Amino acid sequence: MPFTPTDYDPYDFANRRHIGPSPEEMALMLEAVGADSLDALIDETVPASIRTTDPLDFGAPKSERELTWFLRQIAKKNTVNSSMIGQGFYGTVTPPAIQRNILENPAWYTAYTPYQPEISQGRLEALLNFQTMVCDLTGLEIANASLLDEGTACAEAMAMAERVAKTKAKGFFIDQNCHPQNIAVMKTRAEPLGYEVIVGDPATDLVPDQVFAAIFQYPGTYGGLTDFTAQIDALHSANALGIVVADPMALTLLKEPAAMGADIAVGNTQRFGVPLGGGGPHAAYMACRDAYKRSMPGRIVGVSVDSHGTPAYRLSLQTREQHIRREKATSNVCTAQALLAVMAGMYAVFHGPKGLKAIAQRIHAVAVQFVEGLESAGFAVEPENFFDTVTVEVGPMQGVIYQAALDRKINLRKVGASKLGIAVDETTRGETIERLWEAFGITRSFDDYHHAYRLPEDLVRVSDYLTHPIFQMNRAETEMMRYMRRLSDRDLALDRAMIPLGSCTMKLNAAVEMAPITWPEFSAIHPFAPADQREGYQELVDDLSRILCMVTGYDAMSMQPNSGAQGEYAGLLTIMAYHKANGDAHRKVCLIPTSAHGTNPASAQMCGMKVVVVKSLENGDIDLEDFRTKAEAAGDDLAACMITYPSTHGVFEETVREVCAITHRYGGQVYLDGANLNALVGLVKPGEIGADVSHLNLHKTFAIPHGGGGPGMGPIGVKSHLAPYLPGHPETGGQTGPVTSTPWGSASILVISWAYCLAMGGAGLTQATKVAILSANYIASQLKDHYDVLFKGRSGRVAHECILDTRPFADSAGVTVDDVAKRLMDHGFHAPTMSWPVAGTLMVEPTESETKAELDRFITAMAAIAEEAQAIAKGEMDRDNNPLKNAPHTVASLVGDWDRPYSREAGCFPAASFRVDKYWPPVGRVDNVFGDRHLVCTCPPLSDYMDAAE
Ligand SMILES: *Cc1c(COP(=O)(O)O)cnc(C)c1O
Repeated sequence: MPFTPTDYDPYDFANRRHIGPSPEEMALMLEAVGADSLDALIDETVPASIRTTDPLDFGAPKSERELTWFLRQIAKKNTVNSSMIGQGFYGTVTPPAIQRNILENPAWYTAYTPYQPEISQGRLEALLNFQTMVCDLTGLEIANASLLDEGTACAEAMAMAERVAKTKAKGFFIDQNCHPQNIAVMKTRAEPLGYEVIVGDPATDLVPDQVFAAIFQYPGTYGGLTDFTAQIDALHSANALGIVVADPMALTLLKEPAAMGADIAVGNTQRFGVPLGGGGPHAAYMACRDAYKRSMPGRIVGVSVDSHGTPAYRLSLQTREQHIRREKATSNVCTAQALLAVMAGMYAVFHGPKGLKAIAQRIHAVAVQFVEGLESAGFAVEPENFFDTVTVEVGPMQGVIYQAALDRKINLRKVGASKLGIAVDETTRGETIERLWEAFGITRSFDDYHHAYRLPEDLVRVSDYLTHPIFQMNRAETEMMRYMRRLSDRDLALDRAMIPLGSCTMKLNAAVEMAPITWPEFSAIHPFAPADQREGYQELVDDLSRILCMVTGYDAMSMQPNSGAQGEYAGLLTIMAYHKANGDAHRKVCLIPTSAHGTNPASAQMCGMKVVVVKSLENGDIDLEDFRTKAEAAGDDLAACMITYPSTHGVFEETVREVCAITHRYGGQVYLDGANLNALVGLVKPGEIGADVSHLNLHKTFAIPHGGGGPGMGPIGVKSHLAPYLPGHPETGGQTGPVTSTPWGSASILVISWAYCLAMGGAGLTQATKVAILSANYIASQLKDHYDVLFKGRSGRVAHECILDTRPFADSAGVTVDDVAKRLMDHGFHAPTMSWPVAGTLMVEPTESETKAELDRFITAMAAIAEEAQAIAKGEMDRDNNPLKNAPHTVASLVGDWDRPYSREAGCFPAASFRVDKYWPPVGRVDNVFGDRHLVCTCPPLSDYMDAAE
């Protein structure tokens, strides 16, 4: 009988697509680690005392086709209207070439944060373009590479101003014309820091002596255009700062913030080609005077030189970041919005200054024509002069006209009880305006050639912008496509090789999960659209919350936080609000182990907490004695502890229940950092082992891509007693303030995590956890003859990551952990997490998605590096002139003189590198010190490239 029925299921997404090792490969890996079965390995690794007895179950896993069909049904429950609500969010046209070549291209979206500059030159250039664009449009000297959203950018600007202002005043003035969500986010942030917030009219209510800074929205939320020069002058006389929140599209026509004397400018670059997405992700920006650069939050891309003296990009001034400064850091921002900043920057490259100006002029012209139509019918429109946004007085007709617009598929903004707010954007067509007129009872036809303008004369922009050659390229699509391709080719992302980063789970971001983010039903939804247009989103959020509650053992979730660090901040605020409600506002002490991620102390500080550091033992575990002593000492003042589980050392500590019990005994709450949830899903539930609140990094554990440093989502889960204190929002209510601009944070990417959960099912998610643990143990076992694996559990197993010690090489061969990281690039790998939580080590997290072949290639590379170090130690290789010190090798090493004591072959083609598919780092080792000493954070003039090369 030639026909043998097969039980192979080609549509089993979890086991055939998401999980890398095949069953046969897993058997080999289990044998290598000396475990009888996967379950036996897990039993040895995860202490029985913390295992859940409640297996994950939320319906059968779905095939990719079923999943797509299902998501389509949900998408249909969202209604795509023309949203003319404005309030910081606008329709925009994403150039299809940018959508296809960046947003939908894994070479861009699967990249990691560019901490290893040699393999990140493409996205670093794209981010430098973004910074240059922001500097040019605002007129300020230095810009960062994005912040999470406009609301938090305002809050960051406020905190930054307080740090740098040379006044003792504790007041902070907010222009009442700021968007309501910005005001709300700033108020949330100001309260624990003890700033007195004054919201009022800048013309009458601002008293410069009382404040360290004031913030003004430009254009205002109702469309008003004000020149704030006089106010900012007055602020400067009082040693206070002026901050302007500016719409970058308006700035292509209007006087820039720097010309008004502003010290800091912030805003949202969403309308530069980034879809609304129900609230995000979008890249907020921040720019400031050069003098304040060391106080600026967020990442800053700068220009340095490489080992050949060639210009090369890198992240600058990293010592400001929480990884180093901890509770003294300038902010807790870690993951930001890199991919969206790349898109916005590319939108500017794509259109150039002429194109941007034409788009803005068109928006303005459409708005003017619309307003003239209203005025000729007798409506009172405010303000007199505007860019794109106006309010119309409609008296008792508010509801009727609002509904008439809705009937014509147009969303407006209700302002007070008798006005309607209307914002025109890049997508507004003449036909839209005609429909909108109709809603106002006006029959009129739109004239394509209408060129009147109503900008205030003295606010019309006179300065140039985007003069750098990068914004003057030939904009033929072939040229643009090749530019985007050239940049992505310089980078090493998940589409080429495993990125074995400890703590930052870099797993598969499956195509089927990514596809829906650009469906209009998800991408074209305004965050403040009427609820009945967001029913699909509501269902998605509710169901994802339900699943994540099952996964974590918590009772409620908040989808607001746009990153893990923002989740920490939101979770700690929730704890503080709970204490306050119980009359325990004095509880301020937060116990944090030395091994904690830098964002933990930075977030605690932002909540006004007092950080008390708890020692770690030799083996990396929390020092329980020290913990007990410090909890007792804090006593009634204990607010919380922040722990990471499994520990940042990659071990399931047996004492975690005890740590939670001690904290609770003294009235504290347990914050469990969920970054390592990939080791727990389906096996251990934080809510069952004593934790009260956690953030989940959906861009780590739940398949949202890293985007080269964002987007991310860091929702928090809490036990029921904390649920009433979760962040609220002006649009949705709640007693605690919002931490971000929109109720569901970066809503559109939630669909990725939800799709991941649905495709995997409970059993698939659990299997993924087990295989992640197997893969880490496999790497640890295969490399044990070459490296000490630093921390292990009682049974000699690691969790989902392992820490390899490279310090012996430093003593014996003068080889640093940096040399190892750079040499991995020659093998075609991204380095693991370096020197955290222990200096001189590498933390490797292979994830469940890598095949055995790729794990083996990594093992080969690491073993070959250890052998090179050994050869140096034995004197067989030169101590200074060797492949490790000279790494990475670029293609230039193949030609010209070769004065090295090893062959070109050995330098360029080490054991794990490919021949045909060889990845060539585009630059040699980047000089960090040079870059910080000669700080250049905008696209340098071409002549500078020449100077640097000399
Ligand atoms: C990644 C990480 C964070 C911060 O998450 P972001 O999204 O980058 O803000 C916090 N804690 C730990 C342990 C992490 O690994």
